[in-house]
Amino acid sequence: MTESDDIAEIRRAVAGLCADFPGEYWRDKDRERAYPTEFVTALTQAGFLAALIPHEYGGSGLKLDAAAVIMEEIQAAGCNGASAHAQMYIMNTLLKFGSGEQKRAYLPGIADGSLRLQAFGVSEPTSGTDTLSLRTVAVKDGDHYVVNGQKIWTSRAEHSDLMLLLARTTPADQAAKRTEGLSIFLVDMREVVGNGMTIKPIRTMMNHSTTEVFFDDMRIPASALVGEEGKGFRYILSGMNAERVLIAAECIGDAKWFIQKATDYAKERKVFGRPIGQNQGVQFPIARCYAQMRAAELMVHHAAQAFDAGGKLEGNLGAEANMAKLLASEASWAAADMCVQTHGGFGFAEEYDIERKFREARLYTVAPISTNLILSYLAEHVLGLPRSY
Ligand SMILES: Cc1cc2nc3c(=O)[nH]c(=O)nc-3n(C[C@H](O)[C@H](O)[C@H](O)COP(=O)(O)OP(=O)(O)OC[C@H]3O[C@@H](n4cnc5c(N)ncnc54)[C@H](O)[C@@H]3O)c2cc1C
Repeated sequence: MTESDDIAEIRRAVAGLCADFPGEYWRDKDRERAYPTEFVTALTQAGFLAALIPHEYGGSGLKLDAAAVIMEEIQAAGCNGASAHAQMYIMNTLLKFGSGEQKRAYLPGIADGSLRLQAFGVSEPTSGTDTLSLRTVAVKDGDHYVVNGQKIWTSRAEHSDLMLLLARTTPADQAAKRTEGLSIFLVDMREVVGNGMTIKPIRTMMNHSTTEVFFDDMRIPASALVGEEGKGFRYILSGMNAERVLIAAECIGDAKWFIQKATDYAKERKVFGRPIGQNQGVQFPIARCYAQMRAAELMVHHAAQAFDAGGKLEGNLGAEANMAKLLASEASWAAADMCVQTHGGFGFAEEYDIERKFREARLYTVAPISTNLILSYLAEHVLGLPRSY
């Protein structure tokens, strides 16, 4: 099979699985703010969440471009990949910087679904986007680290066995460089929940299973450290490129869903004796969103391929991944707004699923990185303008 046959087969298989999880399923979960366990189990059993895990550890050894197609198709089918996407993008840090021992200990279990790697603890209430100011500390104590502090927006923590945690191991004023002194840990949550780790759910405008996590003298084995102590910020940045590309692919899937819904409705809804889609005032916003989505889609695949080529393609990988996320999140949000407008009052009715997807799509110009911060990155690192913060 050629690469494109493989990709087409992945698209068909994901769409087939998603067909078993129609709008009613997601509406019920949304109303109850419940985790879509059945959906995540089906994705895991079909091997999709192990796409990036190498064959030797039980995964399918796919590249990021193929993983991006999986996430895109989930969203394009009206489902919500936010329930499980972290497993794909956290994986990258473990694959790239984890020890052989850590990979052998965890990857086969993650691949077969007996272990869930869904929690990513970076954001904190006081530091916000300024990650280097985070306050959670991990202090070495013999063959353990003792962790104290707090994370916020740690999504899926209640539905995960493992957490990738970023904490300070050297006080900021003693670190050799501003970007050093932070470390990454792969925390086995089964050993610490209720024993140093407390999780509190946060109710949000969409169903996202996000939480606050408190660490109170939480003891974790020193073997939980990923890579070298003090280099965690560099590791996290590298993993974040994969995260940006995968989330951007989800945004493309959302945009496709909104555009399809709007197009179908504009053909079928008749007002003043003709389909509303016959009016240019209705056609043009849909066509504009389609063009915007296609441009962003090209950028997402370009960034994924740059990532897969190990940054050897032209350009700076961080910039490509950030631009993909910026353009795709704006394309999905524009399509969401257009879809509500095209549906008139029915865009607000629960049973059309548009208001739910609208709420879900809103997240991505804010998280995992906000539009302003991407623009600052491009201004400083690509255009050479002065650092603004
Ligand atoms: C539902 C949800 C799920 C999430 N899941 C996770 C997760 O699993 N793990 C995790 O670690 N985090 C998670 N996050 C956190 C997310 O990554 C942050 O919310 C996001 O990065 C923005 O950070 P902040 O909320 O602290 O905003 P702030 O940093 O407080 O920024 C607030 C606003 O000010 C702007 N701003 C700040 N500084 C500047 C500047 N210098 N120049 C211009 N504008 C600026 C920002 O763009 C933003 O619009 C999640 C967030 C949400 C809402």
